[in-house]
Amino acid sequence: MSIRKTLVVAGHGMVGHRFVQAAIERGLTERYDIVIAGEESRAAYDRVALTSFFEVGADALSFLPEGVYEDPRVKLLVDTEVTSVDRDAQRVTFSNGETQAYDVLVLATGAAPFVPPVPGKDLENVFVYRTIDDLEAIREASKTAKAGVVIGGGLLGLEAANALHQLEVETHVVELAPRLMAVQIDDAGGATLKRHIEKLGLKVHTGVMTELIDGDDDGKVSALKFKDNDEPLEVEIVVFSAGIRPRDILARESGLDVAERGGILVDPQMRTSDSNIFAIGECAAPEGRMYGLVAPGYQMAEVAVDALLEGPGEFTGADMSTKLKLLGVDVASFGDAFATTEGSLELVFADAVGGVYKKLVVNEDATQLLGGILVGDASAYGILRPMVSSGMALPENPEELILPASRGTAQIGMPDEAVVCSCNNITKGTICGIIDEQGCVDLPCAKACTKAGTVCGSCVPIVKNLLTERMEAAGKTVNKAICEHFSYSRQELFDLVQVHQYKRFDDIIEAHGTGRGCDICKPAIASILASQFNGHVLDKQTTASLQDTNDAYLANLQKNGTYSVVPRIPGGEITPEGLIVIGEVARDFGLYTKITGGQRIDMFGARMEQLPAIWSRLVDAGFESGHAYGKSLRTVKSCVGKTWCRFGVQDSTQLAIDLELRYRGLRSPHKLKGAVSGCARECAEARGKDFGVIATDKGWNLYVAGNGGMVPAHAQLLAGDLDTETLYRYLDRFLMYYIRTADRLQRTSTWLAALDGGMDRLKAIVIDDELGLGEELEAEMSRHVDTYFDEWKATLEDPEKLARFVSFINAPETPDPNISFDTERGQIVPVNHDEPVVLGSTIPVGAPQ
Ligand SMILES: Cc1cc2nc3c(=O)[nH]c(=O)nc-3n(C[C@H](O)[C@H](O)[C@H](O)COP(=O)(O)OP(=O)(O)OC[C@H]3O[C@@H](n4cnc5c(N)ncnc54)[C@H](O)[C@@H]3O)c2cc1C
Ligand code: SF4
Ligand code: SF4
Repeated sequence: MSIRKTLVVAGHGMVGHRFVQAAIERGLTERYDIVIAGEESRAAYDRVALTSFFEVGADALSFLPEGVYEDPRVKLLVDTEVTSVDRDAQRVTFSNGETQAYDVLVLATGAAPFVPPVPGKDLENVFVYRTIDDLEAIREASKTAKAGVVIGGGLLGLEAANALHQLEVETHVVELAPRLMAVQIDDAGGATLKRHIEKLGLKVHTGVMTELIDGDDDGKVSALKFKDNDEPLEVEIVVFSAGIRPRDILARESGLDVAERGGILVDPQMRTSDSNIFAIGECAAPEGRMYGLVAPGYQMAEVAVDALLEGPGEFTGADMSTKLKLLGVDVASFGDAFATTEGSLELVFADAVGGVYKKLVVNEDATQLLGGILVGDASAYGILRPMVSSGMALPENPEELILPASRGTAQIGMPDEAVVCSCNNITKGTICGIIDEQGCVDLPCAKACTKAGTVCGSCVPIVKNLLTERMEAAGKTVNKAICEHFSYSRQELFDLVQVHQYKRFDDIIEAHGTGRGCDICKPAIASILASQFNGHVLDKQTTASLQDTNDAYLANLQKNGTYSVVPRIPGGEITPEGLIVIGEVARDFGLYTKITGGQRIDMFGARMEQLPAIWSRLVDAGFESGHAYGKSLRTVKSCVGKTWCRFGVQDSTQLAIDLELRYRGLRSPHKLKGAVSGCARECAEARGKDFGVIATDKGWNLYVAGNGGMVPAHAQLLAGDLDTETLYRYLDRFLMYYIRTADRLQRTSTWLAALDGGMDRLKAIVIDDELGLGEELEAEMSRHVDTYFDEWKATLEDPEKLARFVSFINAPETPDPNISFDTERGQIVPVNHDEPVVLGSTIPVGAPQ
């Protein structure tokens, strides 16, 4: 029996947070409890957007405004520094004196600003620029200050100058090098940037060296003195931004190998010289090199999670391109910006009046772009940088790429491999795939689904273009590769599985894919296998390891780590005895109950190890799984119909029950809902469902492809006045054709919208059987109906499947102590983890009695 392990993360900054997110998303918490200790007083936030703190406040920057992760197996301790690591005992000590044992330790301690040993550096009102606390302190000091200076004219120095400027303090920038942003841009670019900044009223001093900081009698900053210059700057605030140093002290003190110039040495899988300890982000130094940008840190976080999952991922270096808006000025630098490649040529466009400087570095025969610098107008960055990373051929007149309002840069097609979002390392292909699959209709939706554009935001314009392109092309030239592991659409995979009769994911990926699969293709293939073979979703040999969180426990995971229990109530009809059983179960297990919009009763708050005992009672009383957790048929809602209603013309309740029983358990690309109304008054809201039936004097009208949700769609009439038998036939064909041909997570409405020929085409296929598929589709549905079984009943009969329903594998009887409840309106509701623990039910947990 495997035992749960403990993983400790030291540092809750951008990369530490990304690591934990990836760990949750990719199932690492199935094996590890994660404890994160962050030294700052708040959970991780967007440090890259730090300067906007004055405008938006801390909550808007926070990655975790509630301070807790959705997964209860992850515990975050803020205001808690890891002060030492005892590698022999595998234990860390926190600043509050407590200790924590670990099986795996991940160091994500970031970097600290470097403060050179300038006399006066310890005076009051000398700051660094790294955390929200730093900004709060600077804001406080600015209330009484007239002038301030930033020492360092690099990327971060200009950010800090921006902050001072926002606080309405006269702002100076002091830089030792002869130009600003010396690492990223050349002399001409630096000069253009300087002009821009000075126009805003800031004072830039390049090529000068700070000698000392003077203080007044109160020990506060009063002036800055330069070497070889008699004229001191009278300032009351000094902000150091002279570079950063990796925070590798824990590694040094515990004897781990560190790089010569600082940073914890790691192998390509982010393991330090101690195989139980990983280092990621700015504290790490793969091959001795530290990366001071967030994108490489995110890559490292993903690689470390991969390594812990025994995956093949490796960190092989990162693109250090940058695009920023500094004090309102666009600045970008990418690839070989300084033309260090032998034979490389430079193409320059400079408009001193307009304050625009653009430089392209191309190879000797001008066929490939090697790098570039953009100041004042970086709109072409999104197109140019991917051209460097993909090595795509330059157009015949490359200068057109940088000419003002360039004639057609937007028209240059990027290859799918081109990395569009460098912060998250997402290619154009991946973005398009996700946009298509999710049916995103606007930018926020596309950003949320693809993650592109959610860090520095520089790729947002391209994501928007891609979205527009995909929407315009919907149904025509869409790239439907389901994910990076398969170059096939869901429909093509469906056909492959059918033709080859595959039963295992491993066989499919071996024959038709690459890698090990991901959380996109695994559940999609699980769904395809379930649609075609109707096996048990928890079958070890076939689909158990492929399921997402809900399917994996045959229940919906709720916000405090508990699960919901939803028995099927076909057509919403239930006997008083049934109601009593549900009431008794809910009472005995202390569950919250609610009647859903789909005419069922939700029971919330069940701990994972309680699920079998709860279901055992329900199954004994004749209930079965309502599949509330699956991408499958949920409910067929009904009104009371002609049996009770004065207006009813048909027995809508009977039909709804029959349809729900016919299609129960049917796995599909998206969840499915149906409804039947007994007359045109439409009390069951059938036209807001994937299939809706409305009774007429002569029979049934069948509507398809409607839905509620974020983008509601009205179902459309497929056929009218049908007899019951024909209704079944058309519905069987419609549903099976959808299941066969839709994309992953594509609703019936978006599927129909994308179907070439739309409703007319669907009628031709379903009613006129133009493709000659009718019988085949009906036979597939019959096979589904004949092979249906209740997943929960089958689970209760199988000890191997039951074994997964434990909070702690090594202590199956122990409930998760992090789960606690409060009471509201007489029922339980979730509370935060730091509130008192109430364990609820006294019913014994474990396998059914
Ligand atoms: C103003 C500013 C602007 C930036 N702009 C950009 C940009 O435009 N693009 C870009 O790519 N990058 C930018 N960066 C850099 C980017 O923020 C970093 O690359 C990124 O935050 C690194 O993430 P990290 O998790 O490694 O370190 P951090 O985010 O610094 O997180 C490390 C965390 O660990 C904590 N910690 C340290 N030691 C311990 C310990 N012993 N115990 C517990 N906790 C500890 C620290 O307090 C910190 O909260 C910017 C940075 C700043 C400051
Ligand atoms: S609406 Fe759907 S597609 Fe859009 S962000 Fe939400 S989940 Fe993604
Ligand atoms: S839809 Fe018609 S039959 Fe059904 S409850 Fe409403 S009025 Fe009555």
